[in-house]
Amino acid sequence: MKDSISTDCIHAGEERFKPYDSITTPIIQSSTFVFKNSEDIRRYTQKQHFRYEYGRYGNPTQRAAEKKLAILEGAESAVLFASGMSAIINTLLAVLKAGDHMIITDDAYCKTLDFVKYWLPHWGIETSIVKMGDYDAIEQAIKSNTRIFFSESPTNPYLNIMDFSRLRSIKEKYPQIIVVSDSTFATPYNQRPLELGAEIVIHSATKYLAGHNDILAGVVLGSEKLVQEIVDFQKIMGGVIDPHCAYLLIRGLKTFSIRMERLNRSGEKVARWLESHPRIKRCYYPALKSHPHHDVAIREMNGFGAVVTFELNGDLDDSCHFLDNLKLCYIGPSLGGCETLITHPATVTYYNYTREERYELGILDNLFRLSIGLEDPEDIISDLEQAMK
Ligand code: PLP
Repeated sequence: MKDSISTDCIHAGEERFKPYDSITTPIIQSSTFVFKNSEDIRRYTQKQHFRYEYGRYGNPTQRAAEKKLAILEGAESAVLFASGMSAIINTLLAVLKAGDHMIITDDAYCKTLDFVKYWLPHWGIETSIVKMGDYDAIEQAIKSNTRIFFSESPTNPYLNIMDFSRLRSIKEKYPQIIVVSDSTFATPYNQRPLELGAEIVIHSATKYLAGHNDILAGVVLGSEKLVQEIVDFQKIMGGVIDPHCAYLLIRGLKTFSIRMERLNRSGEKVARWLESHPRIKRCYYPALKSHPHHDVAIREMNGFGAVVTFELNGDLDDSCHFLDNLKLCYIGPSLGGCETLITHPATVTYYNYTREERYELGILDNLFRLSIGLEDPEDIISDLEQAMK
């Protein structure tokens, strides 16, 4: 019988009996692993027994975290990286070669978009950027050399949702395309894209998976074969996770399902409160009927997460006053940790864009992204209320 997710969070991937009878998986803080003698080397190189060799090729603490993540995501295999961006870039560069083409949706994380727009062309790889939610545009963008379709779901900051059933019908016609889904906002608690037709899932494990705003990490999950190609590339490129971070990720994952259960509830509660508030012009959250992809979210997701995006009634000055009045919510980038974080994309992520450029991307002066944390949702609401006054 399959373990429930909360049991998997605690036990999956880890040895039952660990060195020195420790209950926790130890941090193997070692850059190299020594051979006992030449026979040991021979058995290792002839693949007669599995062991570790060098930190860039893998580490036991990292391996335990990878196994746990693979089980949570329903994947055959997983490989960890030092950050979400490292996971994304290593994946793209491992799969794509000069002359290939990839498609990405227009509201992907800005650094992912920057990489595919400005860096991939250096290696002779072409990209088409299509509007998220426009499935005709996706199909029209496909060429004979298209290798990857990349999208996030939910996206940042508008929480648009990928309709995997529509994507599957496109993919049936173009089986050469690998669907890569950045599922950072969904997490395996709320959606498992591999079961919905994606071949590769990527997370910034910095966010909900680790869950404590204290590490950077990224993970790629998929079939044994695809992940092995990425592992082989990582062995050359590096970008490996540090064993201490891998330990903190295992520790964070122990409470992943109970954190997500609470965060889904708090997310919905705060979103409904914001939507009904007279000082809020618009609130985006997939559980709300007003969200443009509400129907897809209901069909394809098990929960809606704890990121809520909203427009305040007012201009840039009003937005800055609101931020300055907050006492509990921290102002800062990122999401998925214990502390509630609020981001004002216009003045942080997009500070170097002109107002026109920002508006074209939907980054309005009065737009906020709230990553709800594990505080009492009533306290978060009180803080938002007093800051709006
Ligand atoms: N993907 C998404 C959806 C993100 O929001 C981020 C970072 O915010 C990344 C990838 C990059 O992850 P990291 O910051 O761990 O490199």
